Amino acid sequence: MVENTKSISATKFLRRKIGKSNVSERPFVVSESCLAEVTKKVFGMRETHSHLMARPTNIGQVREIVRYANRNAIPIFVRGSGTGYFGGELPTRFGITIEMTALDKIRVFSREIGYVVCDAGIAVNALNQYLRKRGYYWPHNPGSRKWATVGGSLASLGVGTFSTRYGYATDSVLSLKVVTPTGVIFETGSNMPHDMSSLNLIQLICSSEGTLGIIVEAKLKIFPIPEARKASIFYFKHISDAAACASEIFRSGICPESLEIEDLSRFTSEGLAPVMPLKDPRIERLQLDRYQAILFVNNAGSRNQVSSATAQIERISDRNNGKKILDEKITDLYWRSKTEISSWAADKTPKNKVHTFVPAIPLCKAPEFEKRYAKIARKYRRITPAGIGYFLIFRNEECTASARTMLDETDPLSIREYENFVNDLAREVVRMGGTIASTFGLGTILVDVTKKNAESKSWYELSLKLKKTLDPKGIMSPGKKF
Ligand SMILES: Cc1cc2nc3c(=O)[nH]c(=O)nc-3n(C[C@H](O)[C@H](O)[C@H](O)COP(=O)(O)OP(=O)(O)OC[C@H]3O[C@@H](n4cnc5c(N)ncnc54)[C@H](O)[C@@H]3O)c2cc1C
Repeated sequence: MVENTKSISATKFLRRKIGKSNVSERPFVVSESCLAEVTKKVFGMRETHSHLMARPTNIGQVREIVRYANRNAIPIFVRGSGTGYFGGELPTRFGITIEMTALDKIRVFSREIGYVVCDAGIAVNALNQYLRKRGYYWPHNPGSRKWATVGGSLASLGVGTFSTRYGYATDSVLSLKVVTPTGVIFETGSNMPHDMSSLNLIQLICSSEGTLGIIVEAKLKIFPIPEARKASIFYFKHISDAAACASEIFRSGICPESLEIEDLSRFTSEGLAPVMPLKDPRIERLQLDRYQAILFVNNAGSRNQVSSATAQIERISDRNNGKKILDEKITDLYWRSKTEISSWAADKTPKNKVHTFVPAIPLCKAPEFEKRYAKIARKYRRITPAGIGYFLIFRNEECTASARTMLDETDPLSIREYENFVNDLAREVVRMGGTIASTFGLGTILVDVTKKNAESKSWYELSLKLKKTLDPKGIMSPGKKF
């Protein structure tokens, strides 16, 4: 009853403030492929709650909505384009979801200092198309590039094709404009990340997954498109050789723009199948079924640098029993699937949907992770493992292990099996010295998986105090993160 009354008054308020066409019960921007392919029925994501979707078109409107919600103790949730796998954008109870997709403008482009200021709701691809015309790029390039927003990428510690050299999406943030849960707008950061004049609130806000504030604008470091790029793919009989090869590259002093390991299942289904038929004689000649993994490398810089790094990496691969794919057509098409089209599994049946669990692990543990994943998956008969892709992050010699699984989301037993599978795998990740949640965050699904772990830690209490200070009424994304 109270909810109903709140809903009626909130609807009236929103319609008055942002216009009838920007208030709805459904999201405004939805990736059809995401809906068709990704399951959102596992863990806490399957609970549905009535909620209002508000699509503000400027920062002032975001602030007004938040102030209204704060005054009336109505929960607020933040949504980019909803491509996250972990339900971070889904409401955990009745409330207003602020969809950011209409805040999609580019405000400033500075060639001289090398940055762009944009609204948080702009899609990553749209931003990069704008920059490309000017000879620049923002080096965050996820498989969901067509839809994922800048705000969503920052709030979920996104990684992508160029993360090996440039780190996570958040590493290129110079400053942020944020609306706090009480409706205050503040700006944090400057042109220089090497800045001790204030606390580093950028990482705090980004790692909060929309629980401490709404990112409304970002100043991002951008880079000139390199003079040359050279992509190569090496394939290995054993994933341990691929990991050893990557480690040697890390330690050689070469800094590729991209370095990724994929097991064969992931390579063929997500890297190759969307761009060429697997029955193509050029692929059949490789006899890939005898191999376990590939290492994808992309060097970028001046022509000389690129050719010398490429030759050096070929020698490293030889030493680690790697074979190079010599057919440039295959490498070129694979590069397209990594940079231009959206990464979708081409091997799924209509009944099955995909889910991905993405922990971060030390690079040297990738072979062990691969084994554990296969062993645990064998325990469960209703789910199908669908390959792992490892984005390698140079600075930390770590990788995010994107472990993909298919399941029939109409079958409750399949869902139960998948949840048990993730819990089992999460325990192994901790044992390996990794962390359960990297890209994608905790969302609604990993809160329970990580809760036991977190509550015993001293930082948890401190985080709760911080949350209380910024969000005294607890209206921002309740039930998440904390
Ligand atoms: C096929 C496919 C491929 C993918 N590939 C990758 C990949 O390569 N790399 C990668 O990193 N991810 C990948 N993802 C996951 C997903 O696309 C990313 O997590 C993406 O960054 C989410 O952006 P979004 O705009 O859809 O955010 P949403 O899913 O809407 O939200 C994600 C989280 O961010 C919060 N949030 C959104 N906007 C804001 C804001 N302005 N302020 C504060 N909080 C906010 C939400 O509350 C939520 O917690 C992939 C997903 C799919 C479906």
